[in-house]
Amino acid sequence: MNYSSELLSDKPLVIVLIGPGGVGKGTIARNLIGRDSRLWLSRSWTTREPRPSENGTEYYFVSRDTFEEGIAEGKFLEWAEFNSNLYGTPHPSVPNEYDVVLEIEIHGAIQVAEHYPDAVIIQIQPPDVETLTERLRGRGDSETHVAQRLSTTPWETEKGKEIAHYQVVNDDLERATSQIISILEELRSTRNPSN
Ligand code: ADP
Ligand code: 5GP
Repeated sequence: MNYSSELLSDKPLVIVLIGPGGVGKGTIARNLIGRDSRLWLSRSWTTREPRPSENGTEYYFVSRDTFEEGIAEGKFLEWAEFNSNLYGTPHPSVPNEYDVVLEIEIHGAIQVAEHYPDAVIIQIQPPDVETLTERLRGRGDSETHVAQRLSTTPWETEKGKEIAHYQVVNDDLERATSQIISILEELRSTRNPSN
C-alpha cells in the first residue's frame, strides 16, 4: 500500500508502529523519541501485569474494572483484547508542534486508521523467525508465551502487510530507527515544504 495523502501542516502526524510481539516496536519507539525531539509517545492503558523487566512507566497498568470504566466513559481512541488482556490508547492530547507515535496491535491500528485516515502505518518486521524467537526469550518471556506469540505471527504479518504504508526490518536498531526518521522527514517536507 502506498502512502499518499494531503496532510495539513497544523495537524500532527499520527505514526502507528505495528508488528509481531518481540520484533522491537517498543524499543524502536523509545529510540525514536530519544532521537527526534518532535515526537510524542502515546502511553497506553493495559490490564496485563508489568513484566519483571519493566519499571511501571511503559503503560498505565490498571485493573479490568478500571479499564472497562474507561471504555464506558469513551476514554479511548481505540482498544482491543490481546492474549486475554485489554490494551487501549487514550484520545491523544499532543503538544503543539509534535507528531504522535502509537505502538499497538493490528485491530487497534485498523481502528486508528478509521479515525485518522491520514495515519501513517509502519510495519516492523523481524530479520527472520529465529531472531524473533531469540528476542522474545531474551526479554524473559516464558516458553508458553513465546509459543503463543509465534502462533499469531503469520496472521499478524499478513494482515499487517495489507494495512501498512511502510515496512521496516528491525535488523540493527539504529539502522531501523534511522530509516523511520527518514520516512518521517520526507512526510513532513511533503506536508510543509518549508520544514
Ligand atoms: P515489542 O515491543 O515489539 O514486543 P520489544 O521492544 O520489547 O518488542 O523488543 C523485544 C526484545 O528485543 C527486547 O529485549 C529488545 O531489547 C530486543 N531488541 C529490539 N530490537 C533489537 C535489535 N534491533 N537488535 C537486537 N535486539 C533487539
Ligand atoms: P505487550 O504485552 O507485549 O506489551 O503488548 C502486546 C501487544 O499489545 C503488542 O502488539 C502491543 O503493540 C499492543 N499494544 C500496546 N498498547 C496497545 C494499545 O494501546 N492498543 C492496542 N490495540 N494494542 C496495544
